Amino acid sequence: MDSLHEPDSRSWISKEIRPKQILDKYQERVAAYKPYQGTNETNVRPFHLQQMVNVDDEMFKDLEEAMDIENLTTEGEPCPMQLVNPNWNGGVYGIAIPRYNETPIPEAGRLTLRTLYVQAEWNKRAKKDNPQDKDKTMVASRKKELLEPNDNFYLSQPPKQLYRGVFSDNKHLYTIKVYRPFVHPNIAIKDTFSNKDLTLAQEIWVLGEHTLADFRDKITCSIDNNFVGKQQVDTLNKLAPRAGDVYKSGFLFINSCFYLDTRHKDNIDYSQVIIDWASKSNRNLGPFKKGVMETTKFQDLEFRVGYPYVFTHQGNHEHLFCITDVRLVGPDDPQSENKYPLIRSVGVQQSRMCMVCQIKIATWVTVNNSRVAENPFFFCTLCYKSFNLKVDGSKEGEFEEYRYHDVNSV
Ligand SMILES: [Zn+2]
Ligand SMILES: [Zn+2]
Repeated sequence: MDSLHEPDSRSWISKEIRPKQILDKYQERVAAYKPYQGTNETNVRPFHLQQMVNVDDEMFKDLEEAMDIENLTTEGEPCPMQLVNPNWNGGVYGIAIPRYNETPIPEAGRLTLRTLYVQAEWNKRAKKDNPQDKDKTMVASRKKELLEPNDNFYLSQPPKQLYRGVFSDNKHLYTIKVYRPFVHPNIAIKDTFSNKDLTLAQEIWVLGEHTLADFRDKITCSIDNNFVGKQQVDTLNKLAPRAGDVYKSGFLFINSCFYLDTRHKDNIDYSQVIIDWASKSNRNLGPFKKGVMETTKFQDLEFRVGYPYVFTHQGNHEHLFCITDVRLVGPDDPQSENKYPLIRSVGVQQSRMCMVCQIKIATWVTVNNSRVAENPFFFCTLCYKSFNLKVDGSKEGEFEEYRYHDVNSV
């Protein structure tokens, strides 16, 4: 494949590496710089710092006093509060720092602005010594609405992680970006919507000990929700079968090897047809290997960082994915094994709108519809019914219809 991609001429693609070997060595070097691993860092940091800057006790004390953050406090400053800033890694935290800047509500404001009146009432009822249980529930429910406990990294700063020395700087972290499938613009396929740009679908973090199957299970794709067969709507008694439940085959193509999903006995080998095609003439492709997805761990892999690899499922739904970073887990990352594989973020997901009203998200798609100008044609439920079905429920004109599951439905 390298003869086609020419990775060596692309500066963002690394050489073929075995990350485990590199990270193991790196881990040893990091450990040497961190002699206090596993202990409470805040206790040992000043002493360690003094060793690093190599000054005597008196000088270090002076230094600490001069650098004390309290020196920047001026008179009349508003009381400090915890800060959340999603744009940089961190924020102002601490047990002694209140979550909000608690400014008393002035009487004039309370009597003239309804919002201030409501807030003042809430403050009164939310006081800890309020004996009414109902009000305690009220406080708890407001806490739930706060951004802080929400673990969506884009919308909120996650709570500061409890540092675990055995986890941080010891586990290997692989950052993988998964993209949505697209129709290549150079291939002229008539009547097909081509999406020329590569669109990020998900960024997934896995640890070295995770298998490729663990990674595959974290990839969500709306195609898996498509209904299979004649029944295209759920009924009260029978749900329509989903493609993801019926067709579970798939492979991950990494470094000239097809890693097949063999967890289900009915799964088929999607790679054989490609291997046969590649070997038939002098296409200069291959040789290819085959592996098993559920027994191969990331730490056993050899690959290029930044190189586009492929995940294929549902026959020919091809998602490019790219391992963009390989590093040790740091103190700001989630500090527990069971948080991984982690969906770190999702990309912008534009919905397909109804092509009649342009207001609602499409729920039906028709193919070869004799009464519309484009193929395929997307409809919302209402437009689909009013345009394509007669009063008795029979079809108006000729077409094939399928339920459409928008990317935002997963
Ligand atoms: Zn897909
Ligand atoms: Zn519509």
